[in-house]
Amino acid sequence: VRERRLFTLEGVAAGYADTTVLRGVDLTVGPGEVVALLGANGAGKSTTCAVAVGDLPVSAGRVLLDGRDVTAWPAHRRARAGILLAPEGRGVFPGLTVEENLRTWLPDPEPVFARLPHLGERRHVPAGALSGGEQQLLTLAPALIRPPRVLVADEPSLGLAPMVVRQVFEVFAELRARGVALLLVEEKATEALAVADRVAFMRLGRVTWSGPRDEVDGERLTAAYLGVR
Ligand code: ATP
Repeated sequence: VRERRLFTLEGVAAGYADTTVLRGVDLTVGPGEVVALLGANGAGKSTTCAVAVGDLPVSAGRVLLDGRDVTAWPAHRRARAGILLAPEGRGVFPGLTVEENLRTWLPDPEPVFARLPHLGERRHVPAGALSGGEQQLLTLAPALIRPPRVLVADEPSLGLAPMVVRQVFEVFAELRARGVALLLVEEKATEALAVADRVAFMRLGRVTWSGPRDEVDGERLTAAYLGVR
């Protein structure tokens, strides 16, 4: 049981200032499992990611890693325990080239370039001159070399060219094969469903349905999205 529930949100409520966004979110991701979190704009998907990685406190509920209560842990402590957010807006040195950026945490960047050829082509470009999408790709590199336990991916394909999107999803497939628990928020439902093992639909700050990807058909998708209106 413990293994199947590597990462769990239990009855999580959270929000901003005087706005309550999450109203009791229950969600669990197992090792080597991809859970696609889908739902219309404003359903609370990004807020769920923020709570998962510790960027936003909960007002109720718990966050569990391996059955351990990490709710009170700040983001840096959760990161050390292997809960990673991608793309991560921080941590790219704009004045350093792609290769130099990678060398700040990795002696040999070649394995990254082998898996993300697009970054290899840009290796001598200062990170600050990359497109936003390319910077996102660069921030994914650490996950490839030292896989986290839990990867929370919030709109990882946003702003990426189609070829780069493919590379990102290949990275996810590899991480899943290596046992990472992946929570994936993705506007592109087709791409998300292609890699997902399970799907969770959010509406108005709650998970309204979750189940195996095979049980998600066009009808269920439409209902989940239109239900918001
Ligand atoms: P989207 O795809 O549009 O990002 P989402 O499902 O990820 O949708 P959230 O980004 O979690 O939804 O937003 C949920 C609600 O919280 C929205 O009504 C949004 O306006 C509000 N919200 C999000 N971030 C903040 C913030 N920093 N301060 C105040 N309200 C916020």
